[in-house]
Amino acid sequence: MNMDFKRKLPIPMETKEMYPLTGDMAETVERCTAELKAIFDGRSERMALIIGPCSADNEDSVMDYISRLVPIQEQVKDKILIVPRIYTNKPRTTGDGYKGYVHQPDPTAEPDLFKGVIATRELHMRAVRETGFACADEMLYPENYKYLDDLLGYVAVGARSVEDQQHRLTASAIVCPVGMKNPTSGDLSVMMNGILAAQHQHDFIYRGWEGHSYGNPYAHAILRGYVNRQGVTHPNYHYETLLYLAELYAKWDLVNPGVVVDCNHANSGKNPLEQPRILKEVLHSCRCNGDLRRLVKGFMVESYIEDGSQPIGCGVYGKSITDPCLGWEKSERLIYDMADAL
Ligand code: PEP
Ligand code: MN
Repeated sequence: MNMDFKRKLPIPMETKEMYPLTGDMAETVERCTAELKAIFDGRSERMALIIGPCSADNEDSVMDYISRLVPIQEQVKDKILIVPRIYTNKPRTTGDGYKGYVHQPDPTAEPDLFKGVIATRELHMRAVRETGFACADEMLYPENYKYLDDLLGYVAVGARSVEDQQHRLTASAIVCPVGMKNPTSGDLSVMMNGILAAQHQHDFIYRGWEGHSYGNPYAHAILRGYVNRQGVTHPNYHYETLLYLAELYAKWDLVNPGVVVDCNHANSGKNPLEQPRILKEVLHSCRCNGDLRRLVKGFMVESYIEDGSQPIGCGVYGKSITDPCLGWEKSERLIYDMADAL
């Protein structure tokens, strides 16, 4: 192969021995996961809100951000379950750009995957220990999931990965809820096939093992908008699309029909300030139709301390270096407005 094998990384088991969960932390993850499962299997009428920066780029600002969610969660706990985003792996459209905390725990320094693997585990551990949230991450590299499988409350399979077999089979082995996004083309059958694969049992190779997965009954849809053949973004959160998704679910052999509406990405045309309006519009659709209220399990919102985004190296504290985000005050408002509307 035309590559240098620079150094051997610790395997997930060794990393967990070096950075083990305490009993309290394991309990937190168990509690968060159980509460989220109750939303996705319909036992709870609360909605999930998966909210946080597009990419976790800095330990201080990410922890600052998540800590601000703690008192708000307490106030809205009857209506909303908050799951903070700590997204440590970033898919890049061309492969160039910031690939996330696992590659560069310091975005201004050279890639250091050895440090990145450890720093990622430590960041997720810190969030569980200090805030009582089990957080969400994207499973961009299925083989890396095992470094975090005891810590995550929610996993997303991204728009660029949802058609990939290894992602689907690995999702079938995950115990917490997994959201399968619609692909960037918007073809909902690709997403439905992904959910079907994730809900079923499989035999496959995982990290050098022959394994058997038992299927994930909490695998569900995430609608994130799409890009047409001319490269123009189109939303897919409107009433008609949600009804169409309900029809698809009725035809497919799936359990726990559910959807999370991603308010950013192609749904907002990457204008993060549209997110509060989109969320309210979907809640209105839910009020108009009881079937939709049962189908919509929650929202995904890209939010950070500052509005917008900046190039790497500009160094504005709490401002995204990947997709533009909704700033703190507007995000706080969005959560209270969502709770009022429920
Ligand atoms: C994201 O959630 O930041 C993301 C990369 O999403 P998508 O896969 O929908 O582009
Ligand atoms: Mn993003």
